[in-house]
Amino acid sequence: MSRGINTKCIHLEETEGKVDNYGAISYPIYQTATYAHPGVGQSTGYDYNRVSNPTRDQLEKTVVSLEGGSDALAFSSGMAAITLLMELFKPGDHIIADSDLYGGSIRLFKEINEKNGLKFSSIDCHKEKIEDYITENTKALYIETPTNPMMNVTDIRAAAKIAHDHGLLLIVDNTFMTPVFQNPLTLGADIVVHSGTKYLGGHNDTLAGFLVTDRDDIIERLRFLYKTTGSCLAPFDSWLILRGIKTLGIRMKQAEANAKAIAEWLKTRSSVRKIVYPGLPEHPGHEIQKAQARGFGAMLTIELESKEYALSVLEKIRMIKYAESLGGVETLITYPTTQTHADVPEEIRIKNGITDSVLRISVGIEDAEDLIAELTKVFDEIESGK
Ligand SMILES: *Cc1c(COP(=O)(O)O)cnc(C)c1O
Repeated sequence: MSRGINTKCIHLEETEGKVDNYGAISYPIYQTATYAHPGVGQSTGYDYNRVSNPTRDQLEKTVVSLEGGSDALAFSSGMAAITLLMELFKPGDHIIADSDLYGGSIRLFKEINEKNGLKFSSIDCHKEKIEDYITENTKALYIETPTNPMMNVTDIRAAAKIAHDHGLLLIVDNTFMTPVFQNPLTLGADIVVHSGTKYLGGHNDTLAGFLVTDRDDIIERLRFLYKTTGSCLAPFDSWLILRGIKTLGIRMKQAEANAKAIAEWLKTRSSVRKIVYPGLPEHPGHEIQKAQARGFGAMLTIELESKEYALSVLEKIRMIKYAESLGGVETLITYPTTQTHADVPEEIRIKNGITDSVLRISVGIEDAEDLIAELTKVFDEIESGK
């Protein structure tokens, strides 16, 4: 029987039964650039750090055990992972990408990949007919679900069917859900992307990124590109992410419970125009989310009654921080208009619903009562004109 996700976060089954590394319970950090050879034509299995490192290997195997698939690559950031991924394509290739992606991914596609000859169609994958955009040059479908920040839910199984009927790769950025809640490879995706900076690391203390796949032909090409371009994750950072993953299961559970409590509290406030959280039954993607994931995550997007109200929230919060990023133990509030999505053209931003009254909340693992107490104080102060 396959083990539960919390056990997999802590133990790597394939290396069990041996006492390696002097029995160290915490996997050692192999802080080395290169490796001595026992003899001519011989190798310990490690030759140079750009290619592989034992600490990073342990991390990559852990991510494979959580996400499924046959191999994973660990990168110095999520964007490094996506940048390398785009090297699978050549000038003239066309990619259909969801229009509500992480702002940095949109910037990469528009500012760098297009310059290098790739073509993109940016569409609302949760509601538009994807087939209408497929051409003879289309090579991939690139989605996030739920999307960032508008939390649109795309049916991964249906997207995989369309992709495979037309010979496209389905690429899913699973950063928001993590393997605790969703495994895109088992739903038909070919490649999974992660910003390990977020929930996998979980402590807002380092950057990392991952690509995971179950396709041997793809992994061979990716490994070649990886050793050639050198955006690998450093040994110490690999160890930090390994340590972060140990508590991933309980962190996701607590953050999600807090997000649900905050969503319910937000419903009681008349200044909140809109709450987008897939865990609410009224969210249009709620049923699909239930069918393809084991949870709803801890990301909430809200629209307030005005831009001034939204900015006042950012000015007044204290324990909760006004900061970019997400997925850490600390609750953070982001202003997508000038932060994560500042480089997304205004008309696309507005079309996607990212107005200047929108805030994105990454709910952490503090006590829900304390989070709600702080938000109550802030909202009350704004409303009483203090
Ligand atoms: C943050 C993020 C990225 C980029 O990852 P970095 O580690 O910041 O480079 C990609 N996708 C999503 C969904 C993200 O939230």
